[in-house]
Amino acid sequence: MSLDKSWLSNPNRRSPEYQQGIDSFVEMAKEHVDKDGNIRCPCTRCYNSVLIPWVKMDYHLQIWGICRTYKDWIYHGESLIPEVVVVDEVMVTNDMVGVIEDVMDECIEESNSAQIDTLFQDPIFMARLSQFMDSKKASAHGDEDDMDAGDD
Ligand SMILES: [Zn+2]
Repeated sequence: MSLDKSWLSNPNRRSPEYQQGIDSFVEMAKEHVDKDGNIRCPCTRCYNSVLIPWVKMDYHLQIWGICRTYKDWIYHGESLIPEVVVVDEVMVTNDMVGVIEDVMDECIEESNSAQIDTLFQDPIFMARLSQFMDSKKASAHGDEDDMDAGDD
């Protein structure tokens, strides 16, 4: 079963397609709130680093849009990680911060190290990060996806 995520890259947040996409995302996400009724907010301000009630998340998504780099909805019901991924202690280096910024792409509007720290404490995020780094290495000579190469 694959979800339609084409709307994610739609630059027009007011388009019916985008609004519908958000609606269906919220429909799915609200089934996955925690025991307090909260869920990670994937909007471009929170990028999954905060837990809020799903109605608030809905609101955030309406105004700020969903983080475009959040394509695998692992916090909102999409199971992507096959098994428990054990991440050993990972040294946080400047390089990794660079990768994080890559991952977050436009979501980081201003450098917000507090939120990045929160992400680093999140094992699921760290697992995703290492997957991302691996795939980056693997695709060094390929034309993987629409990976943004950045501006060096
Ligand atoms: Zn938010």
